[in-house]
Amino acid sequence: MEYTLFMVRKHDERGDVPRPPTEAHDTVRHLIMTELEVGPLSAHDLSGLLGIPEKEVAGHLKHIRQSLHRSGRSLLVQPAECAKCGFVFGKRERLTRPSRCPLCKSESLHAPLFSLASP
Ligand SMILES: [Zn+2]
Repeated sequence: MEYTLFMVRKHDERGDVPRPPTEAHDTVRHLIMTELEVGPLSAHDLSGLLGIPEKEVAGHLKHIRQSLHRSGRSLLVQPAECAKCGFVFGKRERLTRPSRCPLCKSESLHAPLFSLASP
């Protein structure tokens, strides 16, 4: 697969007209939604696919979840899970990756996965 769309230039062809930041954000969110249509992905996956820092992904997902709510669709969150003892992090609305397991203190966790629910 090729991901050429997100090669966002800081300036357009004419030179010195910077893109408004809101437009850039909309573009990223649109691309995230396109990826989530295909299948469940972690914040780390989205970070790699879109070339944005992993820590920014949760913020975009939060906005996406809000705008989806208005259109009748929803963001599905498969909660994070401990790779060692199988503890499932219950807060389904949580968008960021927990740092360690509250039961066994292991830091090897399966990150939460995101996908789009069909209308
Ligand atoms: Zn555990």
